[in-house]
Formats: sequence, structure tokens, C-alpha cells
Amino acid sequence: MKGTMMQYPLTLPHLLERAGRYFGSVEIVTRMPDKSLHRYTYADFTRRARSLAQALRRAGLKKGDRVGTLMWNHYAHLEAYFGIPVSGGVLHTVNLRLHPNEIAYVINHGGDRFLIVDDVLLPLLEKVTDRIRVERVIVVPLTGQPVPSGYEDYEQFIREPADDFTYPKLDENDALGMCYTSGTTGRPKGVVYSHRAVVLHSFASAMADTLGVSGRDAVLPVVPMFHANAWGLPFTMTMVGAKQVYPGPHLDPVSLLDLMQEEQVTFSAGVPTIWFGIYRELEKRPGHWRLHPKLRTVVGGAAAPEALLRGMDRHGIQVVHAWGMTETTPLGTVSVLKPHLANLTEDEQYAYRTKQGIPVPFVDVRVVNEQGEVPPDGVTMGELQVRGPWIAGAYHDKPNIRDSFTEDGWFRTGDVATIDEEGYVKITDRTKDLIKSGGEWISSVDLENAIMAHPAVEEAAVIGIAHPKWQERPLAVVVKKEGATLTLEELHAFLTPKFAKWWLPDDVVFVAEIPRTSAGKFLKSQLREQFREHFMTKGVNT
Ligand code: AMP
Repeated sequence: MKGTMMQYPLTLPHLLERAGRYFGSVEIVTRMPDKSLHRYTYADFTRRARSLAQALRRAGLKKGDRVGTLMWNHYAHLEAYFGIPVSGGVLHTVNLRLHPNEIAYVINHGGDRFLIVDDVLLPLLEKVTDRIRVERVIVVPLTGQPVPSGYEDYEQFIREPADDFTYPKLDENDALGMCYTSGTTGRPKGVVYSHRAVVLHSFASAMADTLGVSGRDAVLPVVPMFHANAWGLPFTMTMVGAKQVYPGPHLDPVSLLDLMQEEQVTFSAGVPTIWFGIYRELEKRPGHWRLHPKLRTVVGGAAAPEALLRGMDRHGIQVVHAWGMTETTPLGTVSVLKPHLANLTEDEQYAYRTKQGIPVPFVDVRVVNEQGEVPPDGVTMGELQVRGPWIAGAYHDKPNIRDSFTEDGWFRTGDVATIDEEGYVKITDRTKDLIKSGGEWISSVDLENAIMAHPAVEEAAVIGIAHPKWQERPLAVVVKKEGATLTLEELHAFLTPKFAKWWLPDDVVFVAEIPRTSAGKFLKSQLREQFREHFMTKGVNT
């Protein structure tokens, strides 16, 4: 027997129309490049998002065409988040922190036909212009300066009203957006989100026992809109009608604290590096900021250390620790204390809160090692595998990437974890050879290969080491050729033409040999153990 309910697609036009209709007077605030505040309402946003959708259709956009965005977090990016998918297009958020070679690669591999770019990011775009195949570049005049000739002005592009815009027929499994994630080796891989996945993910993240985003919140997503859809928050906020507060390009702790105070933010989101910066500022100037008394924040993208949770608690800011990936839209697990665990001692409670948490509804998790699925004992480690309606089942146009998926339909995260008897997942390590610095990835393998091409180097391994500011930074472990000399400065000079500055190893140490596994691979776990305290004892130099 089948249910007697209607087939109603889970697509974005519903959320956009609903937002304009029921939350028309709710504000959306952006810190502009000149630090002034741009304010408008959901009514303005929905009108302009529809105009963008119509303008894209008039410009010839067909269903499934990709529109890239090279933008910071602000109102026009939000318009793109909705305007592109409701026109039938695919929102491709391009990570502006990538090396220009990779920016060019993802724009071309994604097949972007149009590109929307912040005027303040034109110097970055111009580094790749001659290598990309986009038809039109539309520039958002955030600075208020005229858009340089050769580009289209976004305000002109969307100037026609589109109140009677007819949405194309969309299937809930149609692509809504895409985002590239860094690979251990080789090129970034594209993850394609469907309307259905994003809508369901928005419900899951609004739940009281997950992130609890509601219409009573003023939300400041610090996590970039070019990284895993700012953890889906622009969609979730719009679904529930929360006040939206965007930092623009100003991500330093003082600007963020000022904005949280001015707009009385109740919920925020960002990687630990951001919150450590904020914590230090709060310690320096106690009582200086009058933040909302119920301010809470979700911290993820890297492990939230206990010191951060305790420190923020002292300042009355509640931290919710969550785990996710670009491939998981991204919310996977959230560490909210179950009610009966509130009877535990303070130390025990912190031990739970520093774990990555229990899975949100419709995300299945398991931890697997050579013996099979591990027992929920909180000790036995294995690879974390997940599945669910917003978990990637494949990568865009990469049919040969099979080792990310198991034959029985699970996604292999590359994270090493335990699960305890309460179901809390704890990430203990990574199998992927990637270093996460301040929330963005560095490929240790790419660095190693480049370093090994240096004439003074016999062999080299690059490992991620805990760092007080950036969570992890690369350390180069080098075996020199006999009689050769090498300094950190020489190494940097050698690597600079190939890598973004923030990729360069913070230090180099010289060893007689690099330990290897029986299969002859670098035994990086041993190196990580040996140099575990390297940046902690040397202090912050980045
Ligand atoms: P990304 O796809 O860039 O969002 O990165 C996803 C990866 O970040 C995960 O596979 C983990 O390695 C790491 N990660 C994300 N959240 C956490 C967390 N709460 N604790 C530890 N690692 C995390």
C-alpha cells in the first residue's frame, strides 16, 4: 500500500517565495569593504534574487548550466545562492583561497558559463582570465566604484523587475550547486548538491537538538560561502526567516566582535582558528563588547579543542562542536549533550563536548577497520564511513574515483574515529594526506613532490603539526643530499612560484632518514608523533 500524499518536490523556489511572503521585513545586514553596513530586507532580497534568475534566463542560461561565484560573504552572494538555482542553473561557489592554477581548473572543470565576481576580487580573477572559458563575467560593485570596462555591472544585469517570474520546472534531484574539495593528490574534486539534499539538510540543521537555527536568531556565518555552502546556513536561515548578518571581507576578530555587538548576533559559525582569535580578543579586553547574552556558535571544520570550549564558556558563549565535510553538505554529526549526560561531572561533560557528536537524523555512520565494523566502545579506531540523503555518492565527472565509496554504498570520509556506547563519534586522525590550516586544505603530497625536486634534497615528507593559531601547519622533514645545505628561506624561495604563500611549510627539520612502513611508504604517523610539539614549543610565527 502506498501513502496517499502528494508528490511535492523539495526544491528551492518554495523556500525563496516563502521567505519573501512571510519574512519580508526581516533584515539582512552586510559589512561592506569600506566597513559601512549595507542593510535591506528579505523582501528586497527575494525581489533581487528573482531578477537575477530572470536575467540569467534572458542571458541564455539553460537548465543545468553552471554559474560560478567568486565572492565573499554578503547579500549579493545570498542572491546568487537562490537566484541561480531557481533559474535552473547550478551555483558553483569557487574557493578564492585556492592557488590561481586551481581556481582556473575548477572553473573549467565545473564548466562554468557565467561568473559573478566581487569587484574587490577582480585582481584575483585577472590572474586566471586568459585560462578560463566563461562567456560572461558579471561584477558586483561592492565598493561603489564604476565597474571596469570589459565587465558587466551586476546592478545593471539584475535591474529588470521580475515579480511575475515563472520558475522552470525543477525535479528535486536536479543539481542546485557544486563545490570543489581538495584531494590528497591531483586536482580538486567537485561535489554536486541536489535541491532535495539542500532542503533536507536545512531541516536537519534547524532542529533544536542540532544547530537550532530559528526565526528568533540573528545569524552571522563566518565560515565562507565558498566553502561547503557556509555549512548550509544561508539556506537554513532563509527557510526559518532568521536575521542574516554577513561579515563581507572583514574576518579579523575585532571586526567580527564589533559586528556581533552591533547586530546583537545570537548564532554564529566558524572554524576553531576564528574562535581562538575572538577568544584572545575577549581576554585582552574583558567587558569591552556587549554581546547578546545567549550568543552561541557552531565550531567545526577542524576539532574544537577543550581549551576553546572552556574559554568561550567563561565568556558566556556556548560552543556547539560539529563535524562535516564538503561531501556531506556538510552537517554530519553534532555534539549536543544528551539530557542524562548533564548529570556527569564538568570534566566528563567537556570530554563529550570535544567529541564530534552523534549523527543528525538520516545520516548513518559506522567505523570500519580491517576486522570489520568496530564495536561502540569509544576505543577501537577505524575509518569513519557515512551515508544519507545529503551525502555525496560520486564526484562530478570523475567516474574513476572509486576508492572514496564502498561497494555497499557508504562514503569513506578518510577520517579515523571511534564511537562510544552513547553513539558519540570522536575523530582521532586522518588517513588522507592533507593538512588543514585555518579551515583550508594543504596537500602534503604536492608539497613533498615539489620539495623533492630541490637539488639539495634526497627525500622529504611533509606532515601537519598542531599549531596554536592555525590548528595545523605543515612541517617539512627533509633528508639532505650528502654535503648539501638548505635553509628554510631557500626552501620557501624554491616553492614560492608553485604554491600560495600560506601553503609554505612553517619550518624544516633535517633527519638522517624518513621512517617507512613495511610496504615502503612514509610512516607519517611516527613523524607526527616525533614532532608533535614542534610548533607549540617554537611559538606562533605565522
Ligand atoms: P571540508 O570538506 O573542507 O569541509 O573538510 C572536511 C574535513 O575536515 C573532515 O573530513 C575532517 O578531516 C575535518 N573536520 C571537519 N570537522 C571536523 C571536526 N569537528 N573535528 C575534526 N575534524 C573535522
